[in-house]
Amino acid sequence: MTLDEARPLVGAIEAGGTKFVCAVGTGPGDLVRAEFPTSRDPSVVLTSVVNWLEGQQGERGVLRAIGIGSFGPLDLHPRSPSFGFITSTPKPGWRNTDIVGAVQSTFADVPVAFDTDVNAAALGERRWGNGVGLSDLVYVTIGTGIGAGALVGGRLVHGLVHPEMGHMLLPRLPDDTFPSVCPFHGACWEGLCSGPALLARTGLPPEQIAADHPAWALETHYTALALANLALVLSPQRIILGGSVRKAGLLGSERFFQMLRNRFQSELGGYLASPVVAEGIDSFIVAPMLGDDAGVCGAIALALSALASGEQGGGS
Ligand code: ZN
Repeated sequence: MTLDEARPLVGAIEAGGTKFVCAVGTGPGDLVRAEFPTSRDPSVVLTSVVNWLEGQQGERGVLRAIGIGSFGPLDLHPRSPSFGFITSTPKPGWRNTDIVGAVQSTFADVPVAFDTDVNAAALGERRWGNGVGLSDLVYVTIGTGIGAGALVGGRLVHGLVHPEMGHMLLPRLPDDTFPSVCPFHGACWEGLCSGPALLARTGLPPEQIAADHPAWALETHYTALALANLALVLSPQRIILGGSVRKAGLLGSERFFQMLRNRFQSELGGYLASPVVAEGIDSFIVAPMLGDDAGVCGAIALALSALASGEQGGGS
């Protein structure tokens, strides 16, 4: 096996709410990248992305596969007529956008893997980060929205559509009269705890919220409830929490995680009978090892998985 075969060159697209991050490389250590704002017309964004990927081919070789991790909702069913589309998003202009088709119009013979941004990040963390060696893990992001991806028994969960854990319905604290920022739900995790919810609660972007602001107690209370529900339903070996909000402004990431872990344990009341949750809580709820690169590295991991499953004659 040559070096090129051992470390194939692949492309990645992390389609986010504010920007598309594209990268070409073989893994986290050698990525060349570019960014394009999502606010432009989708056809302009996708043309820029595809042209950039095409232009990276040359000295380093050709792209063997491309992975796309996208904001949703998405159609992930290969036999559906709208497979590869961003479907019913409220994001202006992006409703019913054929993102896989746009990539395949140029890269017709290249395997393209398509999944949620959070499923991609879960896969990236398992390949290179805090999920190495685990078969069951949840990757959560709290930022512009809240989403989570899951590996269960070593496989990414898709199901009927794909999980929408960020819209998990939560019981409100009795004195919390804040109106949810989610247009669909009066009290879901995203509606109560996303970056825009924190901004609306406090008048400040999360990075400027003071350490002693009561918003952090609310944030960690609701997020602990949501993570406890995820632990009870999916039985993950670890929960990785990424996104911008966990950096927690003037409170700091370390104190935010400690508050969150304490609330998580107290909500579960000792019920989950595992030393991982009891004594090992500091390594049960953790930040992503890949940091802010979890998404784009996840899209690289998606591409490598597509390549591997194609070479085995499979794919799913
Ligand atoms: Zn919601």
